[in-house]
Amino acid sequence: DHAPASNFLKNIIDQDLQKPEYQHRPWARKPGGAAVHAGAPADPANIRLRFPPEPNGYLHVGHAKAICVNFGLAKEYAGACHMRFDDTNPEKESEEFANSILDAVSWLGFDWNSFGDTNLYHASDYFDFMVESAEFLIRAGLAYVDEQSAEDMRTNRGTLTQAGVNSPFRDRSVADNLARFAAMKNGELPDGAAVLRAKIDMASPNINLRDPAIYRIKHAHHHRTGDRWCIYPMYTFAHPIEDALERITHSFCTLEFEDQRPFYDWLLGNLAKDHPQPDGSVLKAILAHPLPKQVEFARLNLSYVVTSKRKLQQLVLENRVSGWDDPRMPTIVGLRRRGFTPEGIQLFCNRIGVSKSDSWIDYSVLEGALRDDLDPKAHRAVAVLDPLPLILDNVPEDWRDDCVAPVHPHHAEWGQRDFSIGKRLWIEAEDFQEVPEKKFFRLFPGNKVRLRYGYVIECTGCDKDENGKVIAVHANVFLDSKSGTPGADTYKVKGNLHWVNAATAVTAKVRLYDRLFTEEHPDAGGRNFLDVLNPNSLTEVTAYLEPSVKTSTPGTIYQFERHGYFVADLKDHRPDSPVFNRTVTLKDSWSK
Ligand code: ATP
Ligand code: MG
Ligand code: MG
Repeated sequence: DHAPASNFLKNIIDQDLQKPEYQHRPWARKPGGAAVHAGAPADPANIRLRFPPEPNGYLHVGHAKAICVNFGLAKEYAGACHMRFDDTNPEKESEEFANSILDAVSWLGFDWNSFGDTNLYHASDYFDFMVESAEFLIRAGLAYVDEQSAEDMRTNRGTLTQAGVNSPFRDRSVADNLARFAAMKNGELPDGAAVLRAKIDMASPNINLRDPAIYRIKHAHHHRTGDRWCIYPMYTFAHPIEDALERITHSFCTLEFEDQRPFYDWLLGNLAKDHPQPDGSVLKAILAHPLPKQVEFARLNLSYVVTSKRKLQQLVLENRVSGWDDPRMPTIVGLRRRGFTPEGIQLFCNRIGVSKSDSWIDYSVLEGALRDDLDPKAHRAVAVLDPLPLILDNVPEDWRDDCVAPVHPHHAEWGQRDFSIGKRLWIEAEDFQEVPEKKFFRLFPGNKVRLRYGYVIECTGCDKDENGKVIAVHANVFLDSKSGTPGADTYKVKGNLHWVNAATAVTAKVRLYDRLFTEEHPDAGGRNFLDVLNPNSLTEVTAYLEPSVKTSTPGTIYQFERHGYFVADLKDHRPDSPVFNRTVTLKDSWSK
């Protein structure tokens, strides 16, 4: 259960490690040509992977899968996994997002330090090399500056069934291209006036190979490089170069990049090869073999959840949720605040494994993994979430007795919780029925039940308000029936109720959650996901808890008996005004 089930990726790694070019670990050596591999680390890693988010939002449960795959495999193979920010899109990125991403990866239990290196990298650190790569392609006759209008460019790209049309700028001279690219780079042209394109094949059946754009003009401030650049590389151009510079062995990405793989290989192949020039000189390769290889795996799609940073951001910006860390959000910060543990999320990722084709994972799989992680860890406590007064009529007002219960049923060594019982208690409203339905074994007039860890009682009746609503239940207590005493066994009852002593109860705010969306595939079929938001995804109740929860601090997790797992809210919980979030119920109540 705990080993990553990423077998198809492991097979690829295992096969590669047998190949001669992998035997001497060329990616693990200090590189010779400084300009070629500046910054490439020297370490004995068997494989070198990376997790490359763009710092344009908070990470979500889908990213957790990519994190577990990459950091998990690196760990398993005594390799390295780089933490790399793919920060090539300045307008959408920020330091806040970057920091939140580092926090999320650390919290999930992974570490980008290996073999004494801090493997934290930024695509923006390679902008000089990327420009050099672009100029290399121009000199090799493999790139040109296109000044068609955006509309012409789109039209001339063609369609799936129709070949594209060559740009009138496609056959510019190398000198002209270098000059126009310099003009782009030096800020002489406004945004959108020109793009640098790779010169491949406008008739390729793969539209990604129809002279893809590799550099665009964007007069934008970058959170790390400031105003130094007014051109920025396209993701598809930048990413392979980042991988090659960092000497990545396997560039694992999600399936939507499959059609980009030919360009990935085209680009790196050309940068790693010498190009003879018309004048007899040779343009020398600027990258070295072996080159990284891109391998795609299925992204995580989770039922009733959207995993798109853009859509999650929309929920935040439109105040549909309280923030990125709203406990209903599938972000790592949201899951954390909801009470998810790193171990629970890792267990989930290992269980779902990695495959080559897209599918949906049922949300219950995530919850099941969490329950399995929490059950052996969580301290037990009692909470009454829908309180109804229960009055024991045959004892005096000041009657009081001490009760104990185990902190955890399977950890005797964790000791006992102490609490008291008295004349006035809180029970769950649903545990009383004046006229019991079939198979109802809890409280109804004339029936006996056990108050868990306490006494057997017999219900005598109830009080109602003028609308007929039950407002209190009455019972008599059998004082010789206390749990743990010899008398207890003489009482045979079917109901066993949880309760809290009203005199010592802790009043708390408890948040109960339902799915954020009412549809299994919220953003399927062109539907607007906002139209299927669940209006009842959050219910807040005032609950009564046993006094032992007074010691809780933000992040403390309990199993409230019968109700599920709860966490003291990371933001709002105070010792004198506790706030708990329900993490997950004890049993799956959501499955169809
Ligand atoms: P989004 O589409 O939500 O904006 P993204 O793919 O643009 O996410 P990046 O920051 O580029 O996010 O992603 C970093 C890494 O996480 C990428 O390698 C990407 O493939 C992976 N990733 C993103 N979403 C998922 C997912 N749902 N399942 C698995 N991996 C994912
Ligand atoms: Mg992205
Ligand atoms: Mg994406």
